[in-house]
Amino acid sequence: MAENYAEVLMEFARAEEIDRTFTYRIPEELKDLLEVGMRVRVPFGRGNRTKEGYIISFTNSIDFPPSKIKFIYSIIDDFPVFTPAALDLAYYMQDRYGTTLAAALDIMLPPGSKGNKIALNRKKTNYIKLIKPKEEVIDYMTSIKNNKTLKNQYNILTILLDIGEAPINELMEELQITRSSFNSLSKKGITKIYTKLEEYKAKKDFAITETGYLLNREQEDALDMLNKSFNKKTHETFLLHGITGSGKTEIFLQFIENIVDEGYQAIVLVPEISLTPQTVGRFRRRFGNKVGITHSRLSPRERMDQWVLAKEGKISIMIGPRSAVFTPFKNLKAIVIDEEHETTYKSDTTPKYQTKEVAKFRMEQENGLLLLASATPDLESYYKASVDEYKLLELTSRVYDRPLPQIEFVDMRLELTTGNKYVFSSKLHEEIQKTIDKNEQVMLFLNRRGHSTFVSCRSCGYAIKCDHCNITMTYHLGRNKLMCHYCGMGKENPNTCPSCKSKFIRYFGDGTQKVEEQARVFFPNANIARMDMDTTRNNKHETILKNFKDGKIDILVGTQMIAKGHDFPNVTLVGIMAADNMLYMQDFRASERTFQLITQVTGRAGRGEKPGKVLIQTYDPDHYCLQIAAKQDYLAFYNEEIELRKQMKYPPFSHIFSVLITSDKEDEVIRWANRLMEYYKFYNKEKDFELYGPIPAAISKIADIYRWRIIIKSSDRKRLNNYGLYCIDKLRELDKPSTIAIQSDIDPVMLY
Ligand code: ADP
Ligand code: ZN
Ligand code: ZN
Repeated sequence: MAENYAEVLMEFARAEEIDRTFTYRIPEELKDLLEVGMRVRVPFGRGNRTKEGYIISFTNSIDFPPSKIKFIYSIIDDFPVFTPAALDLAYYMQDRYGTTLAAALDIMLPPGSKGNKIALNRKKTNYIKLIKPKEEVIDYMTSIKNNKTLKNQYNILTILLDIGEAPINELMEELQITRSSFNSLSKKGITKIYTKLEEYKAKKDFAITETGYLLNREQEDALDMLNKSFNKKTHETFLLHGITGSGKTEIFLQFIENIVDEGYQAIVLVPEISLTPQTVGRFRRRFGNKVGITHSRLSPRERMDQWVLAKEGKISIMIGPRSAVFTPFKNLKAIVIDEEHETTYKSDTTPKYQTKEVAKFRMEQENGLLLLASATPDLESYYKASVDEYKLLELTSRVYDRPLPQIEFVDMRLELTTGNKYVFSSKLHEEIQKTIDKNEQVMLFLNRRGHSTFVSCRSCGYAIKCDHCNITMTYHLGRNKLMCHYCGMGKENPNTCPSCKSKFIRYFGDGTQKVEEQARVFFPNANIARMDMDTTRNNKHETILKNFKDGKIDILVGTQMIAKGHDFPNVTLVGIMAADNMLYMQDFRASERTFQLITQVTGRAGRGEKPGKVLIQTYDPDHYCLQIAAKQDYLAFYNEEIELRKQMKYPPFSHIFSVLITSDKEDEVIRWANRLMEYYKFYNKEKDFELYGPIPAAISKIADIYRWRIIIKSSDRKRLNNYGLYCIDKLRELDKPSTIAIQSDIDPVMLY
C-alpha cells in the first residue's frame, strides 16, 4: 500500500471520549499485509500499554509531527475481521442506537476472541516434512543407523520417507518421543517444520436423511413468492403469518434449500429458549454438515470455530439466537427470524440493537430477503405489512387440516364460592384425570416460578419485600426460603410478622412449585415434572423435554419455557393456571403479550393426530383479550389493539425514548432526574416532544440501586433519538453529575 499511516479504532471503547480513531505509523514489514478491517496491537497512552484496535482506514495526511506517531506493533488475525459492509453496519448502529462505534464492532465478533488477544483462526497444527531428496535422506539414515542416541531421528525419517509429511503431535505420540528430535532434524536442513490450518471436519458427520414434504396449496404459494423475490435479487421483507403447526418452518426450510443450492447462504434466528435439539435436528436432517449452530452454551472456542467456518464459507446456514445476525457470511441472501414477536430480539445490553432492524439493514446491503415468521406477529410488524412496507404471506389452516384445540374458560370466582382453594378447578382436575387415564399427556402452564409469589401478614397486611429491591419476595419450597427474583437474594422465612409481630403469616399467589406440589397430591400415580429456571440449571431442560417426548412424564408443569415451539404429539390437554396475572403488567403491550402467550401455549395441544383441549383458568373470563385469544383470531385482536394504540399514540404510531437514572442514593437520583427533565423542557421549545416523568421506575429499586425514569414520545424517530441523547450529553457536560448513571434506550420492548 502507498499510505504510511493507519487510522485505528480502539477495541472496547465503551466511553465516548475514546470512540474515535488514532493515527499510527505502519512499520515496513506490515506494509503489504495490512488491510482495512484487520485487528492490530498498538501502544496506547502515556505508558504505551498494548491495546487492540481495528484498522478503519489508511492515510498519508497528518497534521502533527511524524516523530510523535507511534508504530503499530503487530497484526492479530491473518485476515480482516470486518468487511466494508460490516463497517457500514457498525456506523448504522452507532447512529441508530446511540452506541459507540467500537461497541458496535465488538458485538459482531464471537466472545472469547476479544480482549485476550486470541486470533480468529481455525486451529493450527505443526507439521514436519522432508526437504532433501530421498537419496540424501537415506544416506543420512545409514550414517546414523547404529547411533543409539539418534534412534528417534531415524524412526521419524523412516515414517517421513513413507508418507512425506506428518503432524508432529501424532508422531510424538506414536513414537513416544519429545519435540527435540524434530528440531535437530530441521536444524540439519533435512526436514522443515511448518504450520497448517486444521482442515475443517464436522465433529460428527451429519447425513442428510430427509427431503422436503410435498407442500400444500398455501405453502406452495408462499414459497413461490419467496423464490420469485429471491430470483430478482433485490431486497424485500416478508412477514409469514400462520398459526402454529401451519407449516411455516417447512416453507423456510425449502426456501433455504433453494438459496443454498445456488451457492448462497442464510441465517436462521430463533429465540435461545427454542434452540432445542428438536429444532436443530430438523435442520441437520435436511442440510447435514452445511449447518452451523451458535448459542451461549457453547464454549468460546466453539463459537469462534463457527464464526470462522461461516467466514470461510465452509457452512451455508447458521442457526442461533439474536447475536447470530452478525454471522460473517460473504454471500448472504436471506435472514429468517422465527417467532419474530419475541422480546429477546431486542438486546437489553449495550449496544441495544433491535435484531430485526439489523437484519433488514444487512439484507438491504446484500439485496437479500428478510423473512419474519410468527403465529402472533408483533403488532408493529403486522402494521408494516398492512401499509405494504412488508409483504404479507398468510397460512390459514393447519397441516392436514388438524383442528385447533377446543378452548374453554373456567371461572375461578365460582370455585371460591364452592370452597375450592386449590390451584386446580374441579373442571381442570377432572380433565387431567381423564387425559392421564387415556395415557395421553398434560401440560400445565403458569408464568411464575417458586411456590407462593407473595408472603404477607393477615393481621396488618404487611407484604414481605426484598431488603434490596422494591419487590415482594417469592417463597421457594425446597430451600424453605424467600427469594428475590430480581437480585437473587434469599431470606429466612419469618415466623412472625416483621411489622406487627403477629403469627398470621400467610402465603398467597401461586407459583409453579405449588402447582407441582398439589398435582402430586391429586394425581399420585402420574409421573410429574416441572420445568422452570429452578429446575433447568446445567442444561437439564434437554433431559426433561426428552423424557416428556418419550412418554416418561405424564404431567409437565412449567413457565414460558414449556410454551415455546416444542412439538409433542401426545399432549392433548393444556391447562393455563392463571391467565389474569399476565394482563396486569404495567406496560402498554400487556394485552399483546397475553395474547401471544395464550396462543403459544394453546399451540402445544393437539399437535398429533388426537384432538387437543385447552382450559384457561381466570377470574375475568370476559376480558376482551382472553375472549379473542380463545378464538385464536389474530386479526380480530390486531384490529382491536391497533385502534387503541392509535388513540393513545403508542408504537407503531410513535416512538419512545426511555431514560433510566440510577444511583445507590435515592435523593441523588431524584435530584438529577429532575435536573435532566429541565434540560428536556428547555430544548422542547416547539413542544413537539411529549415528556413524561420523572417518576420511579416500575421496579423502583433493584439490588440497592434506585431507579427513576423519563419517557419521551414522538413520531419522528431520528429527531427523537437526537434530542434524547443531546440533553443527556448537555447535562453531563454542564453539570457533570458524578453520583448517578444514565442509560437510554430507543424503542424499548420492556420497561420495568
Ligand atoms: P409451524 O412452523 O408453522 O409451526 P411446521 O413447519 O413445524 O409448522 O409444521 C408442523 C408439522 O407439520 C411438522 O411436523 C411438519 O413436519 C409437518 N408438515 C409441514 N408441512 C407439511 C406438509 N406439506 N406435508 C406434511 N407434513 C407437513
Ligand atoms: Zn403484621
Ligand atoms: Zn432483591
